[in-house]
Parts: sequence; structure tokens; C-alpha cells
Amino acid sequence: MELCDLAPAYVRAIAPYPPGKPIGELAREMGLNPAEIVKLASNENPLGPSPLALEAVQRCLPELARYPDGAGFELKTALAAHHGVTVNQIVLGNGSNDVLEFAARAFLGPGTSAVFSQHAFAVYPLAAQAVGARAIEVPARDFGNDPVALLEAIEDDTRVVFLANPNNPTGTLLAPQALLHFIEQVPREVLVVLDEAYYEYLPAEVAPPSTTWLARFPNLMLTRTFSKAYGLAGLRVGYALCHPDVADMLNRVRQPFNVSTVAQAAAQAALGDSEHLTRSITINRVGMAQITTGLTRLGLAWIPSYGNFLSFCIGNATAMYQRLLRRGVIVRPIANYGLPEYLRVSIGLERENERFLTALASALEEQRKETA
Ligand SMILES: *Cc1c(COP(=O)(O)O)cnc(C)c1O
Repeated sequence: MELCDLAPAYVRAIAPYPPGKPIGELAREMGLNPAEIVKLASNENPLGPSPLALEAVQRCLPELARYPDGAGFELKTALAAHHGVTVNQIVLGNGSNDVLEFAARAFLGPGTSAVFSQHAFAVYPLAAQAVGARAIEVPARDFGNDPVALLEAIEDDTRVVFLANPNNPTGTLLAPQALLHFIEQVPREVLVVLDEAYYEYLPAEVAPPSTTWLARFPNLMLTRTFSKAYGLAGLRVGYALCHPDVADMLNRVRQPFNVSTVAQAAAQAALGDSEHLTRSITINRVGMAQITTGLTRLGLAWIPSYGNFLSFCIGNATAMYQRLLRRGVIVRPIANYGLPEYLRVSIGLERENERFLTALASALEEQRKETA
């Protein structure tokens, strides 16, 4: 179609983000009972949202005829107290995906470039390409961010470096000292977007004191989300913490009402439910041990992960993904992340992890028979 041919070349070149398969879709395709499908594909919290968040949702339903608070005053005030920053250092997003795009829209464009690692979160190249910036992908080291290589890749026109810590889908983590050393060396005219979507899962001894670095580095932007440990992926709330001047730029490219009333209220309530958060983290730790032990028992190699997911090596991942789907288990192929021999599994509840391991054992057995 001629109209589409006239879209900018950098838009036409975008390969869309492939999301995890929804339960309803698999149920329709395979004639399975949705209740029996286990979805471990999108790093969602298997415990679900905090009950306090659900109550908050109920409470704001009668107000839905009104627009949300575009300034997000109450949620930002709660976040400011939680993180020891000021309200003008916070930018709310429709998921942290939204604020990653603000960074691209505010600081990138044709004639600029963004640097990120091989196997990094797929949204970074998408956000850069959507605004016509060049995406510079740097080879990974041990599946994770290589700070030296990232620094070397920064060019004169580079305005943003994206770094996920822990990284998704590999789960790798840079130690706090290495990360600080990296940020110190990035030129001040390059924005460091430190994506901390899985921060809450980090044990204290490896969790970087990143919020305390904001005062030292005006070019540092942290992103956090309510989608993972806080269990609110469906509501879409995330945020950036940064210098007030950077926040001002991000807010200029933000839709005025990008975070719904329901999402703001639920996020604020979730932030106050530290008990639910602690339970979520514990379930993840126990489930991670269950899955790593199970995979090792099946003779499979996996990449040690600091997130709520694990990537493991399976050889023909496409075929194994299909075998698991036929058994009602949805995991995530990560060939689009440059890992065609790997699958990523999110850590679920004990019974879900068990279902996954059982299905995997049976799928491996089936594969062995077919290739024998
Ligand atoms: C899940 C994820 C996000 C964003 O999730 P939102 O739901 O948009 O907050 C950001 N970065 C990484 C690395 C992720 O895995």
C-alpha cells in the first residue's frame, strides 16, 4: 500500500515485539481448558496483586467518569517518600516501557544513537528505531552487560545508553561496584537509563544503592515497575527516577493522562503492602531453586538469574516450545534476543513449576523417541 511505503524507512524497518502467548489464545488453538494451562512466559507475579491493591481498585471505580490526576500527585508523593527523592524527580509511565520510550523520544532522533548490549531487553532497539536513532548493539560478556565494551561503543552522537540490571532475558547482574564504575565513566551528555524492573528481587548484598547515585549523576535515570514483584502487569504502571531537569524533558513527551486512576490507586496501595512483596520475593527464591534443581536433574544447562525467570539451553528451542505448548505450558522462546537455543521460563507457584518440569521431562522423552 502506497501510504505505508511513505512511512519513514526507520519505522518500516521495525520488527514488532513478540509478546508471550496469552492463555486464551493457546486454549483456542489447541482446544485446551484455560484453567489447566500454565503460563510462565511474561515474568508475571504468580501470587497475583496485593489484596490492598485490589481494594484500592474497587474504591476508585465510582470515579471512573473523571480523568486521572495527570500529575500523579499521591502516587508520586508515596514514591518520593519510599525512595528518598523529591516529587519532581519522578515521572510516571504506563508501565516502565512507557518511560523507556520517553527517554528515546526526549533524547534521541535521526542523527543520534543509542547503545545497549546484545541479549538486552527488546524494547531498547524498538524505542530507538521508532524515533529514527541508530541502535548500537554491543557484544555481551557471559550473557550480560560488558561495561568496558559498552563504554567503548559510545560515539559522538550517542545520547542514551540502556542497561537492564538484572537483564531480561538472561538474568545477569553487574555488581554494584562495577555498575558505579561504569556510570562514573559515561560522558555527562549521555543519559544512562538503568532499567531496574527486577530490582525488588535482589538480595541486599548485591542490590545497588542506585537511588543514592541520582544526586551525583544528573545523567542517570532509573526505571522501576509495578509489573513484576508488585504483581500489577495488567494495570501498566512504572516510573523513572532522575534529575528534575531530565524529568521535565520526559514529561514533555508524555501523554497528559498516561496512567489511569485505577492504576495509580492500585500502585500506591501495592507500594504500602511490604508483606505481599516479601511473600512474592520468597516464593520466587524457593521456585527458582525448584526449577534450577529440576533442570539440572534433566541434564540441562541454565544461566544463573537474579530475576523472576530463568533461561535454559535446550537445543532446538522452537520445537521444544511447541512440545510444551501441546502440554499446556507456555514459556518464552528467545531467538529474537540472539539466543535461539534457549527458552525462558518465569518462576511460578510450586505446582506451576512442577507442571513445567513434568511437561519438559515428557517433551524431552518424546523428542528422544522421535529422533531415535
Ligand atoms: C518487564 C520489563 C520491563 C517493563 O515492564 P512494564 O510492564 O512496561 O513496566 C522493563 N524492562 C525489563 C528489563 C523488563 O523485563
